Order: sequence, then C-alpha cells, then structure tokens
Amino acid sequence: MKQVQKPKKPLIFYYLIAVVVLVLLNFLLVPNITGRNITEVDYGTFLNMVEEKKVATVELDGDSIYFTDKNDNPNYYETTTFEDPDLVNRLDEAGCEFGRVAQEPVNPILSFLLSWVLPLLIFWGLGQLLAKQMMKKMGGGGGGNPFMQFGKSNAKVYVQSTTGITFNDVAGEDEAKELLTEIVDFLHNPQKYQEIGAVCPKGALLVGPPGTGKTLLAKAVAGEAHVPFFSISGSEFVEMFVGMGASKVRDLFKQANEKAPCIVFIDEIDTIGKKRDGQGFSGNDEREQTLNQLLTEMDGYDASKGVVILAATNRPDSLDPALLRPGRFDRRIPVELPDLKGREEILKVHARKVRLSDNVDFNAIARAASGASGAELANMVNEAALRAVRENRKYVTQADLEESIETVIAGYQKKNRVLSNKEKLIVSYHEIGHALVAALQTNSAPVTKITIIPRTSGALGYTMQVEEDEKNLMSKEELENKIATLTGGRCAEELIFHSITTGASNDIEQATKLSRAMITRYGMSDKFGMVALETQSNPYLGGDSSLSCSPETAAEIDDMVVGTVKKSYNKAMQLLKDNIGKLHELAKYLYEKETITGEEFMNILSRQEYAGEENTREDSQE
Ligand code: ADP
Ligand code: MG
Ligand code: ZN
Repeated sequence: MKQVQKPKKPLIFYYLIAVVVLVLLNFLLVPNITGRNITEVDYGTFLNMVEEKKVATVELDGDSIYFTDKNDNPNYYETTTFEDPDLVNRLDEAGCEFGRVAQEPVNPILSFLLSWVLPLLIFWGLGQLLAKQMMKKMGGGGGGNPFMQFGKSNAKVYVQSTTGITFNDVAGEDEAKELLTEIVDFLHNPQKYQEIGAVCPKGALLVGPPGTGKTLLAKAVAGEAHVPFFSISGSEFVEMFVGMGASKVRDLFKQANEKAPCIVFIDEIDTIGKKRDGQGFSGNDEREQTLNQLLTEMDGYDASKGVVILAATNRPDSLDPALLRPGRFDRRIPVELPDLKGREEILKVHARKVRLSDNVDFNAIARAASGASGAELANMVNEAALRAVRENRKYVTQADLEESIETVIAGYQKKNRVLSNKEKLIVSYHEIGHALVAALQTNSAPVTKITIIPRTSGALGYTMQVEEDEKNLMSKEELENKIATLTGGRCAEELIFHSITTGASNDIEQATKLSRAMITRYGMSDKFGMVALETQSNPYLGGDSSLSCSPETAAEIDDMVVGTVKKSYNKAMQLLKDNIGKLHELAKYLYEKETITGEEFMNILSRQEYAGEENTREDSQE
C-alpha cells in the first residue's frame, strides 16, 4: 500500500527553535535596546583605566559599574566591584564624570516594541507552527488554517493493486466474490448498466464471523478494481472531540468524490454504526453525530459518479436500521464460516507458501477442522510449519497438520505434566466412555482419535470425532446422542470406580448448553414446541442469548434441561453396562498406548463383536 508520509518533526524541534530565539534575543537584541555593546572587564583593568585617566563617565549601580572611555566613539564597559571605600575619591581624583551610561534612554516606543511586542509576535508564530504540526499529526492534512485541519479523514489510499492481494488469495466465499466482482465491473463499465436502467448498489456490507476473510476480500477488491481505494477503520472516526468524527466523514467523502470512480472501505463499521438509542441523555453524542453525517453523505452523493462504499462488520444485528435501508448499504454480502470444500481450498491457498511432503491429504485435515474460520486455518498451516522446523524437518507432513489442529482445539501437549497411575487410569476410562457411547449409537460421528496426553488447555485427554460429511442439519436424535456421548465419560468413571471426579466439567457445560438450546432455540421439546424462548444478541460473536419468557417458564425449562441430561446419562450408563467387557479392554489398551487411532479403536470393538463374548451391538441398542 502506498501512502504519502508527511515528514514528522518531533515537538522538541520546535522547543529548540524557541530556545534559540530566546538566546538570540538576549544576546543581540537586549544590548541593542540600550543602544550599545557593553564589554565586560575585570575590576583591575577598570582601576588601571581610571589611573591612566582613560575613563570618561561612570555610573554606579549597586555592585555593577558601567563606564565609558574617552574616545570620540566611546566604548562601553561593565565591571563589578567588591567593597572599595576609596572608589569615589579615586574616581574624583581621576576626573571622571558621574552619569548614566548603561540605561541611557532610548526611544520609548521602539524599546516597547522591541521588548514586548516582538517577543510576543515570535511566540505567537511559534504557537501557530506548533498547532499546525499537531493538526498534521491528528488529521493528516497540511497547510492552510490549522483549525481547518481538524477532522481530516486519514483514510489510507491504496493505489491500484498495490496490496498485491487478488481474489485468487481468497479461497471459498465464491458468492461474496461474485457479488463484489459485479460492483467492480460497474465501476469499469457503467454504461452497460445505465443502458438497461440499472442503478449500481451504493454500498455493500460484508457480514460474517471474525476471521472469515472480510478485510481480506476488501483488500482483494482493491487489488482487482484498478480504481483508487480508500480504506479506513470505524474506530478511526471515534475522536476525543465532539464533531471531529463527523468532519472526518465529510472529508472522506469529499476526497472520494474528487477521485471518483473509487471505492471506500469502512472496516468494523459497527463502531460508528450502532443503533441510536431513544433516550436523549446518552452521552454518545459524538458517535451519533458521526453516524448522522455518514447517513447524510451516503444520501448526498451521486452513485452514478461511481463511488461505491464497502463496509465490514461482525455485528450486523447491532447496526442502525437506517444504515441498512435500500439506498445506503443495500447489498448485504454474507461471508460465512467456510464449508468443507472452502476449508480445503483455504488450506491449499495458505499451503502454497510452505513446503509440503507428498502425502498431505487436505481433505482429511479440512474434515477434522470443522467449524474453523479462514484465519484459524491459516494459523493451523503456520503452526504445522513451525512444528516441522522445531523437529528439524525440511517439509511439513500430514502429522504436523493433524497435530496443529489439535493444538488449536486443545492447546499444546504438556509433556512434563505427570499424572499418577490412578489418574491416568481414570482418564483412560473416561475417554473410552465417551468413545464407546459414541460408537455404540448409530447417528453419531465416528471416533477418529483418543488420547490421554494432557494439553495446555487443561484437558487431561480427549476423544476426537469427525463427521464423514459436512453436517448442515442435525436431527433431534443426533443431538440427543451427542449429549449421551458427552455424559459417557462421567458414566464410565462412576461405573468402574464408583466415584466421580472433576474431570467432566467441560462435558457438563457442553451437555447443558446443548439440551437447553434444544428446548429454547430449536423448538425440540414436546411441551413448548416451536416457540422461541430466547433471543440471541450477536450470532457471529459467540452469541450471548437471553431468555425471553416468564420466570415460571424459565423454571420449567430448567427442569426439562435437567430431565434431558439425566435421560441421556441413563442411556449412556446402560450402553456402558452392556459393554463393560469392551470398556475394560479398550481402557487398558489406551492406558498403555496413551494415544490410539479410530481404526485401532474400531478393530478392538468389532473383534469382540465377532468373538461373541459380549453382547452384540444390536442388543445394546434397546
Ligand atoms: P475478518 O473477516 O475478521 O476481517 P480477515 O479478513 O482479517 O478476517 O482474515 C484474517 C486472515 O485469515 C487473512 O489474512 C487470511 O490469511 C485468513 N483468511 C480468512 N479467510 C480466508 C479465505 N477465505 N481465504 C484465504 N485466507 C483467509
Ligand atoms: Mg476484519
Ligand atoms: Zn470428557
């Protein structure tokens, strides 16, 4: 990105100028005010001059003596005396005159001008310079009246394709790319649209969870559009002074209009675009003014001139409705979390930059990383590369990528955390409990990996389940199975050791959340049916949801949640009881190997089935 850098002189530079000017004033101007240059001599020289009768006029002023010599063009001297009682006599004898020497009156007006007006003028000038400098710092402009500089927009202007990012660097998100391409096309061939009578959208809003590539897409547009691209972040409008934000908006649009056709990109627009609240006493005047100005500007300019406004946010629900109405951001471009294919493509885009071994299977990685955003996937590739370097390898292997997914999910391996044997055994049973319950239920994702190596996230072990295909819908049964799987760990502990541990806290949390959502959000309870019992405030940011029902209903929901989890727990318990032989065998195996793959797990499970020593799978299904 090409930006014109203003030369930055530090403030101290101006202080130095002030000091130099003061010193000059003292050394040059002050003597001139009294009209003469005064030479300083020592007392001995003075006495010598008196004796040689060279001194004409003397002025005694406290400790200081000013005197002149007897030339036609007298020189002026100054010396200091210490107690000298004979001084006056001596001067008398030498025939010196007494009179004013130093403070000989000069033109009073000139003196006033020089000693008061001139310094004031100088300091005023310095002040102006300083103000200008500060304005530059705050507002980015230069020249002109310093106070007009408040509120320069500060937008970065990317000149065409200097970001080096094109749509090729953005994987997946094909719909978003298509919609954006159309806008770019309009800027290049407006007549094509005008002939038909179509009006280009004035603005497009990129919405989606964090890390899905909204900012990246905007940069790619800058790279593809070959028109000036102004980029500014919403937070840059938020200023200390009321009115500054609004004037920045004004300036931004003024610049954009001058440079049309061009694209203006406002990142994180929710900072200024929040809903205005009805109460007058809101203390958010600045933000409101900024928003109002933005609304006015968006109405004010002529879209046919070719100024397109892009904005990005991950909180579309909090935006002011006025921003979203047609004529403003009338096109909404969803940038959602990538699907399986998208994840695979994103991995490939980022893997272009690292050296890979031949065996890498991106599809498998993408499946394991379900729910990951583009940013997380980019991070995974980098983590894998770092791991390869750590292990002194020249290229990244499949194992590196798998490990980095686990790192992102569960944190780093904690190699030196020592579990006692008893604890290790409990964790083994706990994890096998999860895996077994999952495997014994139809409609749950197959187990791909079980490990009891502790992680930095605090997990002592975990069971990884990966869906074979991308799941977009989940049925009620699948959700119930999932809850049963979550309770499976605790069930195994209770079944085998007849005591329970703190190790299940994360499972409990997830199970509760799921069963609550089933009732309040997915309408899966018989009692309430399809009634929304909660409202979600911002779906893209983890979604805090709040119950919107009466306290009685809330209490009832709580009861139902407890009931659902209990039911699942009993189901899991029954499954484990029926398969206790497998539970023992698998837990022992895991205890010894610490990490086992889904295949090993399934081998042991099915081997027993064929051997027929235990209940068969069908029996345990009730
Ligand atoms: P946000 O949506 O929060 O603005 P960014 O655009 O800043 O996300 O994305 C952060 C990083 O994640 C990007 O720099 C890029 O490396 C990676 N990334 C995200 N989405 C994609 C994608 N679709 N294709 C390639 N890389 C992506
Ligand atoms: Mg962003
Ligand atoms: Zn668990």
